[in-house]
Amino acid sequence: MKYKIALDLDGVLAELLEGFCSIYKERCKKDLSLDQIKDWDFFEQLGFSEKELLDFLDEVWSMWWIIPPTEPDLDQYLVKLTESESVIIDIVTCRNKKTVPYVKNWLKDYKIPYKSLIIAKDVAEKLSFGYDIYIDDSPHLMKLIESNKADAKAILYIRPWNSNFPDSQNVFRAENWERIYQILKEKILEKTGN
Ligand SMILES: [Mg+2]
Repeated sequence: MKYKIALDLDGVLAELLEGFCSIYKERCKKDLSLDQIKDWDFFEQLGFSEKELLDFLDEVWSMWWIIPPTEPDLDQYLVKLTESESVIIDIVTCRNKKTVPYVKNWLKDYKIPYKSLIIAKDVAEKLSFGYDIYIDDSPHLMKLIESNKADAKAILYIRPWNSNFPDSQNVFRAENWERIYQILKEKILEKTGN
């Protein structure tokens, strides 16, 4: 049996908000850096509605080449996982479908190994797809998984905007990709006999 992993894109693989900060600074002539974004709803403090933020982020994706990866060597961990473990990795992401070609370019450019690119309308839909393991930075998804009676497990990639979320029985916190890899190997895959 292969374990199905739902791997998030924005904030886990792609440092989308880095691109957001550069365009925001240029356009709004105000300072903003990644470590100033300490809340999931940070856009409200900047005076954006959720819709305005999502449109802005779509625009950032249209310039996909300005978006760096969250960590320079993260593809190596994914290659090691796909080569040595019984896992299938899908990129599962909430987004406007028009950004898909940009996303595919980005994934190719950074040599991210994955099987399918799956679009969800929100985090509840991500969970409804029934993956075994979710790797994500959304505290809302973690909350759903924590209270979910299903067997799904999750790794929360700790970012400035979700760092208050606690560990729980089925949610593990990881401060970097090395730790994500360790948790997968030692606490999830080996424990379940893979
Ligand atoms: Mg995300």
